[in-house]
This record gives sequence, C-alpha cells and structure tokens, in this order.
Amino acid sequence: MASRSTLVIGSGIAGASTFFALARRGAPVTLVDDGAAGQATAASAGILQPWSSAVEGPFADRYVRGAAFWPELLARLAEVGVTRTDHRRSGALVVNADPAQVDAAEERVERRRAAEPEVVGRVERIGGDRARALFPPLASGLDALWIEGGGRVDGRTVRDALLDAGERLGGVRRRGHAVLLDDRRVRVDDDVLSADAVVVAGGAWTNDLLGALGLSVPVAPQRGQITHLTLPGVDTTHWPSVHPMSHHYLVAFDGSRIAVGATRETGSGFDARVTAAGQLQVLRDALSIAPGLADATVLETRVGLRPLPDDAMPIVGAVPGHDGLFVATGYGAAGLTMGPLLGDALARAVLGDPAPELDGLQPSSSPRA
Ligand SMILES: Cc1cc2nc3c(=O)[nH]c(=O)nc-3n(C[C@H](O)[C@H](O)[C@H](O)COP(=O)(O)OP(=O)(O)OC[C@H]3O[C@@H](n4cnc5c(N)ncnc54)[C@H](O)[C@@H]3O)c2cc1C
Repeated sequence: MASRSTLVIGSGIAGASTFFALARRGAPVTLVDDGAAGQATAASAGILQPWSSAVEGPFADRYVRGAAFWPELLARLAEVGVTRTDHRRSGALVVNADPAQVDAAEERVERRRAAEPEVVGRVERIGGDRARALFPPLASGLDALWIEGGGRVDGRTVRDALLDAGERLGGVRRRGHAVLLDDRRVRVDDDVLSADAVVVAGGAWTNDLLGALGLSVPVAPQRGQITHLTLPGVDTTHWPSVHPMSHHYLVAFDGSRIAVGATRETGSGFDARVTAAGQLQVLRDALSIAPGLADATVLETRVGLRPLPDDAMPIVGAVPGHDGLFVATGYGAAGLTMGPLLGDALARAVLGDPAPELDGLQPSSSPRA
C-alpha cells in the first residue's frame, strides 16, 4: 500500500508529522499550506512534560504516550540527516507554595514514571533554594518537584525539521489555499490536485475545509498569547521549564530566551492579535511566580489559535462514509507532545496498516455541518 498517494492539508505539527511519516514509508505525498496568521504550532511553548497533569483517563494516556514517542521521532529525523529541532531534555520543575499540591503532583509523576522510567528519568522533591539554583528568577517560598525527563522543543524548528525530512524523502510541498472538492480532490488556487487519500490537518481551520463537503468536527479556535523575554548576558540554555500547576508556565530556550504564557481564550474566533488584556495576564502571571524576570527585555508576543476539541480528545482517523478522506485535529494545548505519535499512526492508517493508537479518536459516524 506504500504507493498510495496522499495530499496533506496543513503544515502544523499534525500535518507535518503525517507528511514525514508517509514519506518515510515511501508513499507519494504532497503537503499544502496557506500560511495563515495564527498557526498554533508556530506559537507553541513546546513543553514536553505530561506527567504532572491532573487530567486522567484516555486523554492523559495519549499525552503520556506522545511524550514517550519523542526519542524515536528524533532518531528517525537523524536517520535522514535532520538534527536541528531545538529539542532539549533540560528538565522540569513543578512548583507551588502549597506542599500538598506538590505531593499530589509527585504521586501522579511517580505513577506515570513506573510505565516509562527512562523517559521520565529521575524525580526528586527539592526545596525552594535548589529550585532557585536551577531557575534563578523564581520566587522564594515555593515547594518544588524536579523531573529529569522534562523536555522542550521550538515548535517552528521542529515543524521545519519534519517538513525538511519529508522533502528529503521525496515529499512535495506547496504553498496555497486548499478547498476540498470531494474525498480525493482538492483545489489549490487555480489547480485541482487529486490523490488516493486526503488528510485534513487544518488545525483550528479544519471546519472551514470540511464544510465544503457538508462535514464538521467539534473543534473551535482558542487563542493563546505567549510572550518571549530575554535576560541579556544570562545563559538560560540548560534551565528547566517551570510549571506552577495552573495553565501558566515558563520555558527557557538556548541563549537567553524565556517564553512565558499562555492565555487560553476560548471563544476567541480567528482573531490572532496580541491584546492588552492578554499581555497583562501573561506578564502578571510570569512575574508572580518569577519576580526575577521583572527586568527582562520583552522580545515579542506570539499568538496561536489552538484547535480546541469539545471533549479534550483529539480527532484523528478516517471520516466514516468517505472513501480516502482523513482528519487530524483537536490537539488543543497538547499538540506538540502528541502530534508526532498520532501523525505516525495516521500515516499507517492511510496506508491500510494497523494503527491502534487511533482507537477511540476517529471522527464520529455522522460529522455533519
Ligand atoms: C501559545 C501556545 C502554547 C502551546 N504550548 C504547547 C506546549 O507547550 N506543548 C504542547 O504539546 N502543545 C502546546 N500547544 C498546542 C499545540 O501548539 C497545538 O496543539 C498544535 O500546534 C496544533 O497543531 P495543528 O497542526 O493541529 O494546527 P496548526 O499548527 O494551527 O496548523 C494548521 C495549519 O493548517 C493550515 N491551513 C488551514 N486551512 C488551510 C487551507 N484551507 N489551505 C491550506 N492550509 C490551511 C494553517 O495555515 C496552519 O498552518 C500550544 C499552543 C499555543 C497556541
């Protein structure tokens, strides 16, 4: 089945992962993206640390397995000579002023570590002083849990790495706005492209695409604003990410850069602006947990539209009743972590191979607009 041709729409982590996985299996694949403002992948914080999440059940299962797939993904990219992903296993600090909250996080991390001891690495309860030695701007008076396996990537770099690797393996990329004509035909600007399969990985815009065929999935845009700071003269390369057990976090990158965020603006629509309230929120949250960032330079604020699913679960698989049409969306706030695992599974599904990772994630039998 590896000769089955596929058109992938969307170059975020969902589409780029599927593109690479198909090309790696020798399948002819073309990826189309229109470069819309607000791509979630380009704004992502890129944190790979699912183990302290308070969410349980099937979502948490995919989230944890997604993180465990990352070493395999990096090895596969390296096999084709793509080594720059800005991935670093720099550790994670779960912090809170209430030790009981950190106790609860520790229980979850240890439980999940039992299944993936090498990925999670060492887990240690450390005091506030040691936490500040690892991340100096932190406030005092916090309890902290150190997780050795906490990782981070730059969403833009890893997206480009997947696209580059897919092209090296024979995949083709095309810039343009795609419109579905039927299950296997897509108009891109003035051309009509056809293939044996079409994968709609349009992120928050997926329903714009599916609507042309009278279909929809329960996904809507959720704006996320995230601000990048720099601490001149300070090397943050090996600093861990910081998780205060809320939606807020701090993530350090190579050089002197720290990203702080992010807003979760449900109901935002397709409005990819930096707003005064969003800017206030991310900076206030950052300085409350890390007052040592008060003198940092503000570099930029990135805005991404997360494809937020109604029930937290991603929607990935064949569209029932449609021959050759597949969807990959609904990754919400966890797409950088889960996208590569699910993209690899979707590539197998497209080629007719087993993809048990997608069990329970397929679109419903009547995804009508
Ligand atoms: C601020 C922020 C921080 C985040 N932090 C993390 C994190 O730390 N860890 C984590 O795991 N996840 C994180 N996420 C979530 C993650 O970024 C998303 O889940 C993921 O990027 C979604 O990827 P996607 O490919 O589905 O969508 P997108 O990345 O939005 O890509 C969709 C693409 O489809 C294209 N497209 C749409 N319609 C068409 C069309 N008709 N024709 C052509 N192209 C089209 C768009 O232009 C876009 O490029 C974060 C998200 C945000 C916004």
